[in-house]
Amino acid sequence: MVYTVNIGKFKVVIIGTARMLTAVYTLLLEFHHKAMTIRTILEFPDPRLRTQAASVGKVDKRIRYLLDDMFETMYEAKGIGLAATQIDVHERVVVMDVSEERDTPLILINPEVEFIGDSQLEHDEGCLSVPGFYETVSRPDCIRLRALNEKGESFELEPDGLLAVCIQHELDHLNGKLFVDYLSALKRQRIRKKLEKLHRQSS
Ligand SMILES: [Zn+2]
Repeated sequence: MVYTVNIGKFKVVIIGTARMLTAVYTLLLEFHHKAMTIRTILEFPDPRLRTQAASVGKVDKRIRYLLDDMFETMYEAKGIGLAATQIDVHERVVVMDVSEERDTPLILINPEVEFIGDSQLEHDEGCLSVPGFYETVSRPDCIRLRALNEKGESFELEPDGLLAVCIQHELDHLNGKLFVDYLSALKRQRIRKKLEKLHRQSS
């Protein structure tokens, strides 16, 4: 049999039995995990950032490796949140850490949010996919969050303030939405042009 599997951004063709496939796949995953943990972050206006992410069916080793890579990538980039969409993986997985000390990791798999009350919070938002730009966005202040953790267990949170804002920002990524979508068309165009110019210069 011929099998094709995806290891990170690589497509690997494996010829052999199903059992061989599993063994080789596990080895490749281990190798990939050790070899490349910091992933490339897509930047606005990359169209891949507009992809609607699919729900995670099973929280297994593959997802836990993805989480490790995402944390590594987020901490390296000095971000407070990263959605899988931003590293071109279109599954509903988010990692966050809004603590000063960078020691309070939060994992959200298949997150769902409900708004509680109608108070709004204005916050200057930035994004690893829109580097160098900070703009004020208004969002609901209090939310109820339901998600799975790295073991696939369901949990609930009722955060407010920065954490509530950050969770909504990351959830938007999973739905192909960016914080620049909340700005005026003029502002968004200006940011787009500046980033496109930077991308041209660095390519
Ligand atoms: Zn972002």
